[in-house]
Amino acid sequence: AQEARLRAQRMESLGTLTGGIAHDLNNVLTPILMSVQLLEQGEDDAGRREILKTMEGAVKRGADMIRQVLSFARGVEGRRVEVDVVRLVDDVVAYAQDVLPESVHLDLVLDTSLPATSGDPTQLLQILVNLVTNARDAMPSGGTLRIRSSELVLEDTYSSVSHLAMPGRYVAIDVEDSGHGMSPEVAEKIFEPFFTTKDIGKGTGLGLATSLAIVRSHGGFMQVYSELGRGTRFTVGLPVSSSPRADSPAAARPEALLPR
Ligand code: ADP
Repeated sequence: AQEARLRAQRMESLGTLTGGIAHDLNNVLTPILMSVQLLEQGEDDAGRREILKTMEGAVKRGADMIRQVLSFARGVEGRRVEVDVVRLVDDVVAYAQDVLPESVHLDLVLDTSLPATSGDPTQLLQILVNLVTNARDAMPSGGTLRIRSSELVLEDTYSSVSHLAMPGRYVAIDVEDSGHGMSPEVAEKIFEPFFTTKDIGKGTGLGLATSLAIVRSHGGFMQVYSELGRGTRFTVGLPVSSSPRADSPAAARPEALLPR
């Protein structure tokens, strides 16, 4: 039953994806076609160079798109191994230290005794890297990026961004920025493949769609809370892989996911 549900979710994601691809492919091919037509009409050297540059840009965008689509498609499969979440978080912290400009302060609130989850470590890291990249992009003139990790017990079914999370133990990772935030209209669309508010060449709009597909295939959940002009917090919940222990520490309550 679980497998059938995952398959159904995958088909649904692919359906949305196909519509997005058709639209974006069109955006890539149109400038190429126009350039070819211009070249056929004959141009001087300077004009030809200009046109070739446009074509090169479009082809690069197409290649980038395909790379991301492939990674999106892989997102729903992947390996299943025991994943050390403490190390996973360490890896994304190292990434953040690498890519954040000096104007962004990194604030870490980490639980260093988190239980493991099960899945594909590369894919899980990819989710967090996407969130950190988006957070950086949302703070062009600096701010604070907070990464927080904790254990979380859902006592009831929890309605997350696009599906229900089952009750149980989770590790929760928050990536929170003090950036420009999102309007409700934007927030509504951010998980759609190819939705982006970034300039052409800077965003493909596949980061969050891919991340959500990966989270779903791992039986996790994702939540977002954003305020325009103030910042955004993404929470990724991944199920704890071991069976619940009687001596498990008193874990945070789901309230942790609500706006502070
Ligand atoms: P991309 O980063 O290529 O645009 P994503 O799927 O990762 O694609 O993000 C989609 C859109 O969601 C972004 O273009 C942006 O408008 C919005 N978004 C994502 N993360 C944030 C954030 N931390 N703060 C503000 N807006 C965000």
